[in-house]
Amino acid sequence: MPTKQLHRVLHTLSNHWVGDGFPVRTLLAYGNGLDELQSPFLLLDYAGPHQFPPTTQRRGVGPHPHRGFETVTIVYDGEVEHRDSSGAGGKIGPGDVQWMTAASGLVHEEFHGREFAQRGGRFEMVQLWVNLPAKDKMNPPGYQGILNSQIPAVELPDGQGRVRVIAGEFDGASGPARTHTPINVWDMRLNAGRNLDVDVTDGHSTVLVVLKGEVQVNGAQTLHEAQAGLFELAGSRIHLASATDASILLLSGEPLDEPVVGQGPFVMNTMQEIRQAMSDYKDGKMGKL
Ligand code: MN
Repeated sequence: MPTKQLHRVLHTLSNHWVGDGFPVRTLLAYGNGLDELQSPFLLLDYAGPHQFPPTTQRRGVGPHPHRGFETVTIVYDGEVEHRDSSGAGGKIGPGDVQWMTAASGLVHEEFHGREFAQRGGRFEMVQLWVNLPAKDKMNPPGYQGILNSQIPAVELPDGQGRVRVIAGEFDGASGPARTHTPINVWDMRLNAGRNLDVDVTDGHSTVLVVLKGEVQVNGAQTLHEAQAGLFELAGSRIHLASATDASILLLSGEPLDEPVVGQGPFVMNTMQEIRQAMSDYKDGKMGKL
């Protein structure tokens, strides 16, 4: 198997609060001249870990629109409640995933779960934006609430760790998420002092996101907490070695090879489509909460 070489390590791109509930580090963002190596993944925000005191207030972010892509929220600690203008909604907790397809557009709100907010505690989650191919951007919106119990967890041999398959396939286990293009989303734990070879599809984009710990790639560069590595499209085998226990996300997918034009909560293919999205939102065509 030809080695898939690491192209670039991205350091935290920005550090900010989303509303008053999500202290995020942006580890991946589109429009940095490397879109081809991360397509169809647009953006990844790592929220927390952060300790919240108990409150009777709602913490989070109020109604806002999206069009043209999907938001994938993976909760590690705490609870997230979501409600959108298509009528979908739900609460997810540790290990659960919310896969929201904004497509032609919706308005949603994202808050901490009420019980979690009242008791306070540790909060940690990831939100990943996955682009849609042009032909699916104006489909009706969709929502998949995926529970921890529905996500297969593959134990790796020799105590190497564990892979939760959220989307795509790993070692014969299929993830529950329905995707529009071929994508793997693997939520992995690597145990200290172990080595692991993973194979991804030759020609697919690959993003290695280190949430905790440190991971050495292909016997060379080491990625630390809150760093993302972008790989070359060619090649398929990646060698990982973790000196510490590590928590990582390994994302891979077929690049879309379409122009990416985005502004705020909208990601389309042309500026004209962005202007249309803004005016459709203003005219209430994405619905109301
Ligand atoms: Mn949102």
